[in-house]
Amino acid sequence: MASNPAYAPLHPVYRVVYKITVLLVVLIPLLATVLAIGLLWQRAVHLSDLILLAVMYALVAFGVTVGYHRMLTHRSFRAHPAVKLLLLILGSMAFEGPAIDWAATHTKHHARADREGDPHSPVEGFFHAHLGWIFRDGDADPKVYCRHLLNDRIVTFVSKTFLLWAVLSLAIPFAIGWLVGGWPLALTGLLWGGLVRMFLTHHVTWSVNSVCHTFGKREFETTDRSRNEWVVGLLAFGEGWHNNHHAFPRSAFHGLHWWQFDFSGYLIWTLERLHLACEVYRIPPTLLMRRSVKAVQETTSPVAAPQSDAQEDEALVERVG
Ligand SMILES: [Zn+2]
Ligand SMILES: [Zn+2]
Repeated sequence: MASNPAYAPLHPVYRVVYKITVLLVVLIPLLATVLAIGLLWQRAVHLSDLILLAVMYALVAFGVTVGYHRMLTHRSFRAHPAVKLLLLILGSMAFEGPAIDWAATHTKHHARADREGDPHSPVEGFFHAHLGWIFRDGDADPKVYCRHLLNDRIVTFVSKTFLLWAVLSLAIPFAIGWLVGGWPLALTGLLWGGLVRMFLTHHVTWSVNSVCHTFGKREFETTDRSRNEWVVGLLAFGEGWHNNHHAFPRSAFHGLHWWQFDFSGYLIWTLERLHLACEVYRIPPTLLMRRSVKAVQETTSPVAAPQSDAQEDEALVERVG
């Protein structure tokens, strides 16, 4: 989970219950994945299990990357209400917390990236950035970081019904498995399409916070430690081009070269062509030129000086949420 479902601070007792729940949400998929690897070793895996894993992973990952992240948090595009609802429901199925809380935490990350107050910076240790941070108190308050979302009826509806969608993400592969082959395939469907999928979605999402602020290349000067890491780029459907993203938080496209595959960007492009998305934000070419490290090195223009870059970062971060 990304954060607690907080519209008000939790009572200390509930806080303990919440942390135990988070621990279970982390541990159960891990143990289930160990079991699944054992079954794979014994070749006790069915085709339906692997199809459920692939399809559920893709749908839920798009819910997080396109729905929670680019559409909701960064307002990179505006979606048709039905598409918006569907994307937020799919994002909820990731077990990473309600949409509003996810957006608040992520906006706080951009506002304080790798400085004091960043919820998940590897400055405090790689493990902390990966998953340790979710056990820590001090969540991002939606009233501070994404107040406008509190008045959005679709967003508040999906956030308040988060648990329903999360449980449904386990019930769906179970039900499909049952329809295909009764109880045995229902249980393995739940294992692969539900729990293994949850394990992969969690650790791929968390790798953006940990790996992409530690390993990889920097193409742009930013005031944080964000990096582009192609493996995460592939697994997280384009989110691994994280230095690009911190340089241009609002851009609907994180891959900025043809070889920087960005499945989430391709989906947004497709939705736009189908008239299901509009106001898709693209980086103005002049801004892209000015922000590239190469351009900074080659020009003596005061526009590209570090001071101007920092000011531009702040202006961009202000438009995050
Ligand atoms: Zn980041
Ligand atoms: Zn972001």
